[in-house]
Amino acid sequence: MPGKLFLIVGPSGVGKGTLVRALRERHPEFYFPPSATTRSPRDGEEEGRQYFFVSEERFAKMKAEGKFLETATVHETENYGLLREPIEEAIRAGKVIIREVDIQGLHSVHENLDKSKFAAIFLLPPDFEILRKRILKRQPQMPDAELEHRLESAEKELSQKELADFEVVSGEDEIDKMVADVEKIISDATRD
Ligand code: 5GP
Repeated sequence: MPGKLFLIVGPSGVGKGTLVRALRERHPEFYFPPSATTRSPRDGEEEGRQYFFVSEERFAKMKAEGKFLETATVHETENYGLLREPIEEAIRAGKVIIREVDIQGLHSVHENLDKSKFAAIFLLPPDFEILRKRILKRQPQMPDAELEHRLESAEKELSQKELADFEVVSGEDEIDKMVADVEKIISDATRD
């Protein structure tokens, strides 16, 4: 049976990274494709694990060469893109593929990949106050204007949640439940 790409979407700060890290630990049999990005690596980020860190020029060249399944400019500055070849190869090999993308990425994948090959899981914050706290916990020095901008973007993303196939609430102190909900979705969606 061919594999499937599961796209994890949801607003910044909702817990997409936490979910993907947990799945990575629990499921070495899944494939977690690195994307390309023009942003700089953060502390502890390894080249080729979650991302390939590339220059603007390299990104543009890769795009012109058709290397991407989708690309998006996130938070108005940096480019991100899913690499087409490794993902299509993993689908052919029957793998479960997990990747977080922003909502623009989901729109583009809808246009560029057959619907039988992917599903999207939208992570929902329990409420906006919790989302605000989570964003600030991750970046306590974030200027007010940027925080407001992130929250506005979150609202916009939430209004597009119907674009996803499944919704999972990412509750406070409920990481295990969120992971279990997602594992169930994956196992149901990949059953013969
Ligand atoms: P970060 O820079 O914090 O790792 O990610 C910023 C945002 O970019 C997150 O919303 C993340 O889901 C999104 N993102 C990461 N990789 C990709 C990708 O390959 N394509 C798209 N469209 N978004 C991505």
